[in-house]
Amino acid sequence: MNFSSKLLETAVAEFAKLPGIGQKTALRLVLNLLNQDKEEVERFAGSISKLRNEVQFCGVCHNISDAALCEICASPKRNHQLICVVEDTRDVMAIENTSQYNGLYHVLGGLISPMDGIGPGDLKISSLVERIKNTDVNEVIFAVSATMEGDTTIFYLHKKLKEFTLKISTIARGIAFGGELEYVDEITLGRSIATRVLYENSLR
Ligand code: ZN
Repeated sequence: MNFSSKLLETAVAEFAKLPGIGQKTALRLVLNLLNQDKEEVERFAGSISKLRNEVQFCGVCHNISDAALCEICASPKRNHQLICVVEDTRDVMAIENTSQYNGLYHVLGGLISPMDGIGPGDLKISSLVERIKNTDVNEVIFAVSATMEGDTTIFYLHKKLKEFTLKISTIARGIAFGGELEYVDEITLGRSIATRVLYENSLR
């Protein structure tokens, strides 16, 4: 692409770094910004910089949060004996949208994937074990994708949690997780949480 301005070229290159954004789309977005009020663009740039600088991860569940403890972990209205283990923040958002779940979460930050060099040590697994050890949690629900990585992660976690007196369940597998949840309708997802099965039974 030949640009008439170095500033334009730089801005397009920055946008094109985002996933799913090609050069053409980047150019369209940048030209759109140029047509907006300066104040509007200021606000846009400010919100991105504020997001990156101020956003935190909850010290308990590792979900994206505005404070050291997220609103879900801090809420006395939630069932603190129930933890739903998910791959990332998008899964928390999808499950919250169903309004069918009232427990807490634990965001692993990925799944075990030897092919990609991601081992248990790269995920928030030890903090999950600590949580269970130090609180009166009585059920853990695995809500991760029915992929090889999901299966490996559940198998590993199940082994780790075996020593605790704990109900371990999984949601109906076949539900796409890890960012693909946005394609699952809320009723299906809500129902799969309500009808979760004991992990041992899900292996049959
Ligand atoms: Zn939290």
